[in-house]
Amino acid sequence: MFCRIVAGESPAQIVHFTEKVIVFRDANPQAPTHVLIVPKEHLDSVESLTDAHAGVLADIFRAANHVRTSEGLDDGWRLVANVGPAGGQTVSHLHVHLLGGRQMTWPPG
Ligand code: 5GP
Repeated sequence: MFCRIVAGESPAQIVHFTEKVIVFRDANPQAPTHVLIVPKEHLDSVESLTDAHAGVLADIFRAANHVRTSEGLDDGWRLVANVGPAGGQTVSHLHVHLLGGRQMTWPPG
C-alpha cells in the first residue's frame, strides 16, 4: 500500500521527500508528531537492505533530522523500525516511524 502512496495513487499527508525516501503522517498517530519515513524503492523490511542501499539509509536519517527540525522536536524524539510479525510490523514495505512531541517511555510494548 505504501507503493501506491509513493506513486501518488493513494492520498497521504506528505511532509518531506528526498531523492530516495518520502515522509508522510501516520494514519493512526501515536504521538503529536508521528510520521513514516519510507523508501521509494519497494523493500519488504530492514532485512531486505543490502550494501547497495547505503544511499537509502543515509536518506532515512537525513530525512529524520530534517523533519525533527521542521516539527520543532527540540527535546528529543524516537525512531522505530518494526520487523516481522513478532516485531509488530503490519505493512510489508520498509518504513521507519519518527515519533515526538511527548515523553517517550521505555521499554516499548
Ligand atoms: P508497522 O506496524 O508496520 O510498523 O507500521 C505501519 C504503520 O502504517 C501504522 O502505524 C499504521 O497506522 C500506518 N498506516 C497503515 N496504513 C496506512 C495508510 O494507508 N496511510 C498512512 N498514512 N499510514 C498508514
